[in-house]
Amino acid sequence: MRNVHLRMGMLAGWLACLVVAAWAQEAPAANGTATAAATLRVSTLDEVKAEFDVVPCKNKERLQAVKALFERLGARPEDVTVADFKHVQNVVLSKPGTNNNAETIVIGAHYDKTADGCGAVDNWTGIVTLAHLYRTFKDYPLRKNVVFVAFGREEEGLIGSSAMTSKIKKEQATDYCAMINIDSLGIGVPQSLDNVSSPTLTKLTEALAKELELPFAHARIEKASSDSATFLQKKIPAITIHGLTSEWPNILHSKNDNPAKVNFSSVVAGYRLAAALLARVDEADCQAFREGKDKNKDKDKESKEKKESK
Ligand SMILES: [Zn+2]
Repeated sequence: MRNVHLRMGMLAGWLACLVVAAWAQEAPAANGTATAAATLRVSTLDEVKAEFDVVPCKNKERLQAVKALFERLGARPEDVTVADFKHVQNVVLSKPGTNNNAETIVIGAHYDKTADGCGAVDNWTGIVTLAHLYRTFKDYPLRKNVVFVAFGREEEGLIGSSAMTSKIKKEQATDYCAMINIDSLGIGVPQSLDNVSSPTLTKLTEALAKELELPFAHARIEKASSDSATFLQKKIPAITIHGLTSEWPNILHSKNDNPAKVNFSSVVAGYRLAAALLARVDEADCQAFREGKDKNKDKDKESKEKKESK
């Protein structure tokens, strides 16, 4: 916690449309006819902000609220499926890639909350980001398959993501190019949580942030974990992007986690960075994220951290 440095002063000024234009232009124009700008629907700060006018503050309301949010942002009801594992439900939307192969990118955020507070920062910010990313790319011809997933029961020990990854057979794991997890934006600048992120993806995100002139940091937060951890255990490259600062223990998992605490610029910054990352991973050779992934990993530390969730 202490090693997460506050750089709030940098929050102003870099949220210009320029940033979005930059990644939109760099995203591949699918078949040589459609332009990126024509098919990418980029959300504005006001649109993201409006999502926090009504936050479902009770756990039992959240599953329905997630489905409703995706539908409001353009998903057909039949596209919003619930993977029901009896003990946990994940909301899943799949977008087939134009490559017609098995290569898949997972982008996820947990929708559950702890008993205290409204779970606005942790993790309605992630859900709003996920749903807006869905709308952004819905009609854009990405090459790889993309699975958008809202996980249940993360706070009780990464239960929703574990249920999903338990269904991935060992020989299928290499089809999964990367997993991008969004957990708790909305306080400070976007960061990756080093304890549960592949160095290859963190490096790529750092380079992208530089390119887009977005601030970005990465650090460990001791005793924190999130749903990317279950993908790493399957040897799938993964990253958790958050927007916490050293203030987080006063907000998360407490009555202070309410919509008034959400810094919308932080959410939008995370959304833009995640969008750029998704577009870039879609263009990339998946092998690039695997190489050297496990070189410096401390296995014991990782499994210990998995037990405590953020
Ligand atoms: Zn969380």
